[in-house]
Amino acid sequence: MAMDQMDIDDAPSTTVSDSVRGTVTGLVYDPRMRLHGNIYEDEHHPEDPKRISAIYKALLGSSCVKRMVRIPAREATREEVLLAHAKEHWDKIISTVDKSDEQLQRMANGYNSIYLNNESALSARLACGGVIEMCLSVVKGNVNNGFANVRPPGHHAEPGQAMGFCLFNNVAVAARCLRRHHNVERVFILDWDIHHGNGTQKIFYDDPDVVYCSIHRYENARFYPGDEEANYTHVGRNGARGKTINIPWPRKGMTDSDYIYAFNRIVMPIAYEFGPNIVIVSAGFDAARGEETLFGNIVDGQFLKRRMMTLGDPIGENDVTPAGFAHMTSLLKNLAGGKLVLALEGGYNLNSLSKSALACVKVLLGEDPPDLGPISPSKDCIETVHQVTKIQSQYWKCLAPNNIDEGEEITLTIAKAPGKMVINMTEMLRIIRARGLLTKYSMVPLPISDERLATKFYEHVLCSKKMYEKKVLFLFVHEMPDFRADMKAHTNSVNHSRSYMVDSMVYYIENVVQNPDYGIIDVAIPSGDSRTRSDLVELLVYLWDNHIQIASADRVVLLGASIGCHCLATLINDREQLVMSKVICSILIPGDCPVPAVTKRPTLTSWYYESLRLRGVQPDSQEAKRKRDEERLKIEQIAKAKRARVKGNVVLKAEDGEGIEGTESFVTYLEGLTKNAVVIKKEFTDNDETEEENKIKANHIKNVYKNLKISTDWPSVKVTPERIYCAAVHPNSDKILASCGDKMGWLGFWDANGKAFDEDEELMPVTWKYRFHTRTISSMMYSPTDSNRLFTSAYDGMIRFFDLEKATSVEAHVSDENTLFTCLDTIDGNVIYCSNIGGQLEIKDIREPISSFTVHQLHDRKIGCVSINPVKNDYLVTASLDRTMRLWDLRKLSKDDPQSLEGVIHYGAVTSAYWRPDGKQIVSTSFNDKIRVFDYNESSEELEERLTIQHNNQTGKWVTMFRSTWHPNPSVYPHFVVGNMKRAVDIFSAIDGRALCILHSNELTAIPGKYGSAESIH
Ligand SMILES: [Zn+2]
Repeated sequence: MAMDQMDIDDAPSTTVSDSVRGTVTGLVYDPRMRLHGNIYEDEHHPEDPKRISAIYKALLGSSCVKRMVRIPAREATREEVLLAHAKEHWDKIISTVDKSDEQLQRMANGYNSIYLNNESALSARLACGGVIEMCLSVVKGNVNNGFANVRPPGHHAEPGQAMGFCLFNNVAVAARCLRRHHNVERVFILDWDIHHGNGTQKIFYDDPDVVYCSIHRYENARFYPGDEEANYTHVGRNGARGKTINIPWPRKGMTDSDYIYAFNRIVMPIAYEFGPNIVIVSAGFDAARGEETLFGNIVDGQFLKRRMMTLGDPIGENDVTPAGFAHMTSLLKNLAGGKLVLALEGGYNLNSLSKSALACVKVLLGEDPPDLGPISPSKDCIETVHQVTKIQSQYWKCLAPNNIDEGEEITLTIAKAPGKMVINMTEMLRIIRARGLLTKYSMVPLPISDERLATKFYEHVLCSKKMYEKKVLFLFVHEMPDFRADMKAHTNSVNHSRSYMVDSMVYYIENVVQNPDYGIIDVAIPSGDSRTRSDLVELLVYLWDNHIQIASADRVVLLGASIGCHCLATLINDREQLVMSKVICSILIPGDCPVPAVTKRPTLTSWYYESLRLRGVQPDSQEAKRKRDEERLKIEQIAKAKRARVKGNVVLKAEDGEGIEGTESFVTYLEGLTKNAVVIKKEFTDNDETEEENKIKANHIKNVYKNLKISTDWPSVKVTPERIYCAAVHPNSDKILASCGDKMGWLGFWDANGKAFDEDEELMPVTWKYRFHTRTISSMMYSPTDSNRLFTSAYDGMIRFFDLEKATSVEAHVSDENTLFTCLDTIDGNVIYCSNIGGQLEIKDIREPISSFTVHQLHDRKIGCVSINPVKNDYLVTASLDRTMRLWDLRKLSKDDPQSLEGVIHYGAVTSAYWRPDGKQIVSTSFNDKIRVFDYNESSEELEERLTIQHNNQTGKWVTMFRSTWHPNPSVYPHFVVGNMKRAVDIFSAIDGRALCILHSNELTAIPGKYGSAESIH
């Protein structure tokens, strides 16, 4: 591998005297750590050797390197590595030096997320030795602090196991070295990589002298490495309890505010209390915010909302900015007399990775971190920090007063507390509340004859006096009253004189009991214990059947608060007719809970919403309500009629009168066109040309395009009423019939050679338009086997084809009307493959009955493009908003668990991916302004990336992105066409990525997203 020139030219001096006064910062970087690479080169691996060179470039570019002292990396010795790893593990990694590719692959497959080559051991030893040397330089005082720009990363590597891109645990080995051989007493390891450092935790789980503190995305053990050991309940073992601190985020998208809050509440207090001699950071930058990208919601083909959205690290998806990392570095610098080492772990977006690392290095060099603005932690963050504090306060004084002893908490039950009277707070509140309501409103417990329910809800159901005789009955369902406690900081016990029970339901009770015609049943839900929601629903149904039904009241009002709302909704569902006949009003105070829905039975739903009152919303007058309902119904009907799909086939008649002018001339035109239609025969010549032959072919193509002229007959031709989404040209050699599909489902045709006179004797272009779809036409193509069939896919859940010979629009595939088809492809004109917004692929044989078709869930998000290999028809490629392009073998497409042969991650939504007409390459276009060309290796069924072309292919203010499209003739020099933002059309070679030609003209005012090109080049 060729090293970058800059690695040699700009090598920093290694003498301390060159550095600026004040802080001296070390840097470890050795280009040999880039040699560890993925030998399955077809697949772009996120742990890319470019990661460390990108950081180095960023440090060079901002002149940081000049101000740093270079610490040479060296290979870690066996003895050093064995301080944290098993002998067998060392032997295994070292054995990779002379293994064959096949052996390496087999070995890598035995691990979780690991690749290996013959240089892996060298790179891993350098990374490990580099971190050791960096730490030693800091401990010895040669430098104050430092950044170890190393790879492969280390924190997932366990004593006996490589995993998660990590071979040796660099930070752990260095920490052990310091402890064993250099008289360092206490080491604080802070791991801000998005992943939990399972390896580091395992290595130090029993070690009281090393604190391992990790902030990571956890998501209930669903996020990598997916182990419950990453939860806050894991605190270390034996004498080392409290020395492992996990701060597990319950979701992605955590921000600077959340990290700084966790630092201020947990990391810094504990670190100060521990008093380390050095702080080492497992500095992964995969929690970083990525580049900002235009993002919009497309609804009904309309770009409704546009906003800046950040596409973060492709793996971490958190939202920490370079300023956030700088602040964390700055805070940690206060510890251990400034002895701080940052060692690189993850970080997979080269841009955010290098920016974040640079921001940290600047702080190491003594600069102040940038302003963060006001800090506002999220609810999830505060809750997580609270849970961690509760557990860790047992081991760290600084975290008091949350120091309830874990053991004490468990034994707080009546049975297990000899010599004490222990009453649960729920019980206390129940007793006090029942007494209060009895004294104040003479309410009494309602007898429950069902024994099980009676035990569970003893004294939780109260009722007012003479409840059975009242005309109107109120059923209240709510949680137990709030208990607001003031705690004593030292003992964590309640300060009684400043604590209160607050029962806000009394307001409603008071209002009801004042009216002599009203009665109440009041249910106080015991919160957070074994009396679950299903029991509660059972209780409500029991109350309805045994009390409310037999009481004399003919009108009932339901009132629910928070969780009570949902239980009432279930009761409404369960006793549908009875409830509808008696209940005149349901009042919900949902609080933090969402407003519950009832089942979809229309009569019940409309009754429910009519009877519903949400607190704070005034009910309308009857008249206003009736008017509003009528209005809404009218609008709904119109909208529905507009969207109603065209059913069955539509035959265009030669006589006008179909409601669309000019049909006669169109039918006549089609007769002329189809008579001379040619059947396209594609020849698949072998395209493995020599370099010389390719040069000649490329020049020929260049000349053809150079001589293309933009037709200037018309300033512009309006083919459809609305904005055009897709276009195609009929494959006929003597006439040019262009067709376009628009936003509202119009299919327009344009006879490019035709001219006609309008009423004012003005010469006009010849166009026709029809509406066989009622929503956006997303793609169209002529059948490869029958040039008289034009297929269209649309957002109305239909695939149709227009039969030019019979002048008929035919229903080809009818899916659910909420399905939004985005793209279609077919090879034989019978089996249609269509993708939709929900990430599914529908396969339809149009010779089968309309109801028969198969659906496969291939992606989680929208599939924008589907393309079948034109030669090997079993291979299909999909491009998705989930940022992957996937290759599938149709024969292996199981229904339940479709597995792709290959998935290629793009750093942005993939908008298109098309097979070359001879099936040998794929060109993809993605949201980050890159076009990529992949060679398809038939024997290994794998894709090899051949080219990446930087290209401005976003349409920005328009909806659709430009898509790179192949020239359809398989025997010409391989090239593709793509629009760019400067109102031009670029033509690129698929062999070497050169631009063959740029078509540009001032006449061009807009460039369609995808091209329909005539096959005129031979
Ligand atoms: Zn990571």
